[in-house]
Amino acid sequence: MNNPFQNAQEQLARAAEVYPFPKAFLARMAHPDREVLISIPVAMDDGRLEIFEGYRVEHNNARGPYKGGIRYHKDTDVNEVKALAFWMTLKCAVAGIPMGGGKGGVTVDPKTLSKRELEALSRGWVRGMADLLGPRKDVPAPDMNTTPEIMAWMADEFAKISGDATGATFTGKPLDHGGSEGRGAATGLGGFYVFDRLRPHYSLPASCTIAVQGFGNVGANAAEIFAAHGHRITAVSDSKGGIVKDEGIDLKALAAYKKTHGSLDGFPGARSVTNSDLLELPVDVLIPAALENQITGENVARIKAKFILELANGPVTPEADELLFARGIPVVPDILANAGGVVVSTFEWEQNLAKEYWTEMEVNAKLKELLDREAEAVYQKSAALATDLRRAAFVLALGRLAEAMGYRTA
Ligand code: NAD
Repeated sequence: MNNPFQNAQEQLARAAEVYPFPKAFLARMAHPDREVLISIPVAMDDGRLEIFEGYRVEHNNARGPYKGGIRYHKDTDVNEVKALAFWMTLKCAVAGIPMGGGKGGVTVDPKTLSKRELEALSRGWVRGMADLLGPRKDVPAPDMNTTPEIMAWMADEFAKISGDATGATFTGKPLDHGGSEGRGAATGLGGFYVFDRLRPHYSLPASCTIAVQGFGNVGANAAEIFAAHGHRITAVSDSKGGIVKDEGIDLKALAAYKKTHGSLDGFPGARSVTNSDLLELPVDVLIPAALENQITGENVARIKAKFILELANGPVTPEADELLFARGIPVVPDILANAGGVVVSTFEWEQNLAKEYWTEMEVNAKLKELLDREAEAVYQKSAALATDLRRAAFVLALGRLAEAMGYRTA
């Protein structure tokens, strides 16, 4: 099994091969500032007391408060959270936003909890972590299996404990609890802006065939946005498996089908596909939007997509990266491709602190301007260094971090 934190360290080492960063700076980057593990006692509906493990890793705050989502997943552990926190530091730097990197999590399968238990767990996470948090210290957000409603519970718990009335300590809140317009779709939309900026550099057609792994917040929104811009979504999947329809999937009908049937399987006119087979379909663009470690040394030789856009965090391992680069298949790295979420989270934080309201048009226009600029900068860096987009994005981000931390670079 690939350890995501080890993968993150290998990515750092790969970037250091193409640019001479000071050793002391790289050592700082390889270690998070702080790792916190808490026990969260929850009184379950059947009267038992269950203890859950919760995490917060604060990786680096040289460019601004620690920032990063909270993941609820049965396989989440501190190594995963450490990797995700490291990627957040780089992501915020590559996006040029004034935030550092952090990440949180709880080892839990949230589908097994009642709503009351989920709320108790979420409030318990905040009580355990309250000393770390604050609008100028550490600003969490949603990630896998955490929703705007959970952010509202968390923000409420934090306000009660700290008296902080800004509402700026949690982002990804519902609109009527101080959330931002555009936050829900921001990661998928940002991914589209990045893709659209890079598309001409790689001579991809105006209408591509696309397979999307993961039909959650990121995957479902991305699928809809790409389809609305003339691309054809031919395959999607969720944790239970996927479907393929070569003439293109009607996504609204699919979302309604999933709601009533609980899975994608059996969608009219489509054939079933496993998650691993979906990755190997002959499409123009493959969008992993679920979990880490999906494209690895084991399956990389069978990948037929012409272009990969990482909307999940860490879906391509370093070993697979090397082989894809050698085969000339560009991989747009997560720290650029999925930065839209943290960018609009930062817009939410700014609106909360300034007591402002920005319309969806304003939010999306600012998002586009920023990601257009940074996607082009990453592309130009990759051309200048004759390297892949991940190393280029790392070099750009690390350069900004080194400067903020007072290291001299060449
Ligand atoms: P989500 O919980 O809304 O959706 C996750 C989706 O992945 C679901 O459809 C689930 O069924 C599917 N899934 C789970 N296990 C799977 C498996 N083994 N194979 C295929 N599909 C599987 O989560 P999300 O917020 O959409 O996050 C997805 C990814 O995007 C994560 O890697 C997350 O870190 C990353 N991300 C999310 C955001 C955000 O704003 N939510 C921002 C940046 C990156």
